[in-house]
Amino acid sequence: MNDAVYYRDTWAEINLDAIEYNIKQMKQHIGTTTGLIAVVKANAYGHGYAQVAEAALKAGADMLAVAFLDEGILLRKAGLTVPILVMGAARPRDIQAAIDYQLTLTVFHRNWLKEAAAFHRMGKLQFHIKLDTGMGRLGIKSKSELEEVLKDSCSSDFAEAKGIFTHFSTADELDSSYFQEQFGKFETLIKGLQNTGMMIHCGNSATGLRFPERLFNALRFGISMYGLAPSSEMRGILPFPLKEAFSLHTKAVQVKKMAEGEKVSYGAVYEAEKEVWIATLPIGYADGWIRRLQHSEVLVNGKRAPIVGRICMDQCMIALTEPVPLGTQVTLIGSQGKEVIPVDEVAERLDTINYEITCSISTRVPRVYTRDGKVEEIVNFLLK
Ligand SMILES: *Cc1c(COP(=O)(O)O)cnc(C)c1O
Repeated sequence: MNDAVYYRDTWAEINLDAIEYNIKQMKQHIGTTTGLIAVVKANAYGHGYAQVAEAALKAGADMLAVAFLDEGILLRKAGLTVPILVMGAARPRDIQAAIDYQLTLTVFHRNWLKEAAAFHRMGKLQFHIKLDTGMGRLGIKSKSELEEVLKDSCSSDFAEAKGIFTHFSTADELDSSYFQEQFGKFETLIKGLQNTGMMIHCGNSATGLRFPERLFNALRFGISMYGLAPSSEMRGILPFPLKEAFSLHTKAVQVKKMAEGEKVSYGAVYEAEKEVWIATLPIGYADGWIRRLQHSEVLVNGKRAPIVGRICMDQCMIALTEPVPLGTQVTLIGSQGKEVIPVDEVAERLDTINYEITCSISTRVPRVYTRDGKVEEIVNFLLK
C-alpha cells in the first residue's frame, strides 16, 4: 500500500477481484482463439487507468485500448508495455509521439497517412484502420477509400497497417436488424483481408456477450469488464452473471435532530414534517454526485435513507428516523448487508446509462483498490 492518504471520508472502492472475474468469464465465453482488448479509456470508466489495466492483464487481457493519445501516453508512463490501441482521432501531426510511445493509432480517412508523412521523423507507426459501417462517427465508408489507405500503407516506409475494425451502434438492443446490417457491411469491406495477418475486430461488450462467434480476432471489452450490463434490455439475457467493481461511500460528519418545520440546505426547500434526524455527508455535486440526485437514496446500516434538500457542491444531507453515531458509513453506490444500490439504479434515476455514472465521479474522490477484501492501494488524485 502506498502512502497516499485522504483526509475526507468519501471514497470510491474498486474491487479488482470483480474486474478479474468478469474478464475470466468473458474469456471463457468467447473462447481461447479470440483476443481480449481491455478498454480503459476515460480513467477506465472512472475506475482508474493503471490499476484496471494491470488487473485486466493479470486476468488474461491481450491488449489495451483508450480513446486518445494522451491516455495511451499515461499508460506508458505508468509502466505498461503491452500493445495499446488509440481508438479515437489522433492528429496526423502527432504521429511521432505515437511512434515514440509505441502506441497503435487509428487511421480513419484517406488523407491521414498523407498528412502524417510530413511530421514523421523516425521509426514506424503501427495503426488499425477504422471502418464506419453505420455508426456515423469515425471511419472509412467505401471500399475505394479503404483500398487507397491500404495502398498508401503498403508503399509507406513509416506506417504499417496492423488491424482493421468497426463499431456497432445497436449491439445492446434486442432487435438485431441494424446490427446485422452493419455486420454485413463489415464482412463485405474486409473481404480479402482475412488471411493477411491483420487483426480484425468489431465487437464491444454487448457483441461479445450476445454474439461470441462474430468477433473475428478480438473483443473490445469495456463496460461489462466493470461488471455492468451494456443496456437494461441486456440485463435479463446475460450469458453469465457480472460482478460490479465500483462502489461509492462516505461517512456522516454531523447528525442533528430537527423539529417539525425546520429546513435543510439552499433554498430551504426541504422542511421537516415531523421530528427527524439529519445527517450531513461530505460529498456533493463537485464529486459527481449531481444536484439532480436530490430525492435519491443511500444506505445506512443496511437500510435506505433519502437525500433531502438541495445537494451542495461539497455536501449533502440525508434524513434518518433515528440518530446514528458520527462516522457511520453511508453507501451511495454498492451494498450494505442485504440492501444494494446498483449503478443502474442511479443511472435510471438520472435518465442516463450506467457508463455515465462511474465516469462522472470526479477525481476529487479517492479510489481505494481492494483484493480479497483487503485494501491494496489508495489513489488520492489531489495529493499524489
Ligand atoms: C468505448 C468503446 C468500446 C467499448 O464499448 P463497451 O460498450 O464499453 O464494451 C469499444 N469500441 C470502441 C470503438 C469504443 O469507443
